[in-house]
Amino acid sequence: MKVFNLRCEREHHFEGWFPSLEESERQLANHMTRCPVCDSADLTRVPSAPRLNISSGTPAQLATASPQSVWLRALRELIQNTEDVGPRFAEEARRIHYGEVAERAIRGVASERERIELHEEGIEVIAVPVPPIAKEPLQ
Ligand SMILES: [Zn+2]
Repeated sequence: MKVFNLRCEREHHFEGWFPSLEESERQLANHMTRCPVCDSADLTRVPSAPRLNISSGTPAQLATASPQSVWLRALRELIQNTEDVGPRFAEEARRIHYGEVAERAIRGVASERERIELHEEGIEVIAVPVPPIAKEPLQ
């Protein structure tokens, strides 16, 4: 199992797991792999030393678990790179939008109504369902 760092046209970074280098090139060339964040198929392999992933299951398990694992990994990175403001999400998003506080990436909880209100104020937020397993730290 080879792990490659991939980047989509919108600069989302994530890892793609492939049975082999040849298979990764075939899948990328045929747009069979997609960005877990924006679903773009326009992916670039970021130069880095491929490593063998032997820590989490057999190759067969990894192969079937791959799309979900890639998604989980992207979620975990998102979680690691954002500040958790919990239920104050809508309030913090507004303060950032109106320049009251320094701009930063935040995550938190917002009700459907709060999301609609933010949208009407021109503040774009992304709703992502986060399974509990994604909150475990990156290995
Ligand atoms: Zn993307």
